[in-house]
Amino acid sequence: MGTPPYYGPDFGLLQKQDPELAQVLLDELDRVRGGLQLIASENFTSPAVLAALGSTLTNKYAEGYPGRRYYGGCEVVDRAERLAIQRAKKLFNAEHANVQPHSGASANLAAYAALLQPGDTMLAMALPHGGHLTHGSKVNFSGRWFDVVSYGVRRDTELIDYDEVRDLALRHQPKLIVCGATSYPRLIDYGAFRGIADEVGAWLMADVAHPIGLMAGGAIPSAVPYADVVTFTTHKALRGPRGGAILCTEELAKKIDRAVFPFVQGGPLMHVVAAKAVAFGEAMRPEFADYVNKVIVNARALAESLTGEGMRAVSGGTDTHLALIDLRDMGVSGAEAEQRCAAAGITLNRNVIPYDPEPASITSGIRVGTPCVTTQGMGPQELKEVGTLVTRAVRHPGSAGEVRERIAALLAIHRPYLSEY
Ligand SMILES: *Cc1c(COP(=O)(O)O)cnc(C)c1O
Repeated sequence: MGTPPYYGPDFGLLQKQDPELAQVLLDELDRVRGGLQLIASENFTSPAVLAALGSTLTNKYAEGYPGRRYYGGCEVVDRAERLAIQRAKKLFNAEHANVQPHSGASANLAAYAALLQPGDTMLAMALPHGGHLTHGSKVNFSGRWFDVVSYGVRRDTELIDYDEVRDLALRHQPKLIVCGATSYPRLIDYGAFRGIADEVGAWLMADVAHPIGLMAGGAIPSAVPYADVVTFTTHKALRGPRGGAILCTEELAKKIDRAVFPFVQGGPLMHVVAAKAVAFGEAMRPEFADYVNKVIVNARALAESLTGEGMRAVSGGTDTHLALIDLRDMGVSGAEAEQRCAAAGITLNRNVIPYDPEPASITSGIRVGTPCVTTQGMGPQELKEVGTLVTRAVRHPGSAGEVRERIAALLAIHRPYLSEY
């Protein structure tokens, strides 16, 4: 085919042994190359990260931590985990790092396990206002096992209401305050949260699953100097393998490590740990700082283009890699917009907006993000056009074919996994 086999080191072998599964990998690559990926939580890892993921490190059982394993033969994989830990600590200027959580949700589960007992009170952002399922939703363990008090955004500004956070903290005396969100387009004032946590004697946890990449590249202020515990994912803007990690103060290091293993997890995924090391290494380079700055410039260009076309950006715009769009003025639901965009070759997700009158299955909004398209090499000029195309697809379902053609033209120049980066 003339294109490098990024799906794995021995793709030819897989094709021969299991053509049915090999075809899935080919089709998925075709899918991402054939459409525009605007899901704010996705990215395209480097071929180096994929190489580590597709390695024999997946075979090794390594319960425990480097130098203190419960299995023999770990001296080699220990080096991968030590590299990942050293790089994470350096990159984020953290006292301690645990790189074993299998995902963001696992990292949060471990952090709660380290700091709370079942029935304890925690204060976190409400899911319908941008929080995450693991921040106390009733369908998640967090909402079942803890007494969760939720804060939200103000109706007028659509920004976090720090006065409300403080009032709730004073009234409910939570043991843990969680800040961080999954669909909040603005910067979070971690210093303000620290002040409130200190006032009531609570731990402060920042779940920066989304913006950690922007922090790694220095494009936005870091949560690390303020929070006792920082949880994050490695696969969103950070552009690493699918997984989670935890940073914390020296004071909490042992508690966090014991919570990850043996409390909530068994053996770590050593191929993923190795790939995290690769991604942290990549994030230390000046090119990555450049990349995340472009991600934000692009998100702004996209949000401006969409608002220029008559959509409304929640909170008026974005400071990050994502924008939340209110579609109520257009008379289209989030679910309809998601479908119409899909038909036009644009992948994005419907998303509740603050005070959304519609249920989560319908919603009044969509969320768009620029980590993927920026990795593909697009700039503000392209994002301006993307905004026009998204609006066209949402407004005129009949124009799907025409939008698809224009997207194909964009992707002909900016195909993922076409060139090295
Ligand atoms: C994505 C996300 C998570 C969960 O990450 P998974 O790897 O999907 O488990 C947790 N918290 C926040 C705020 C997120 O955005």
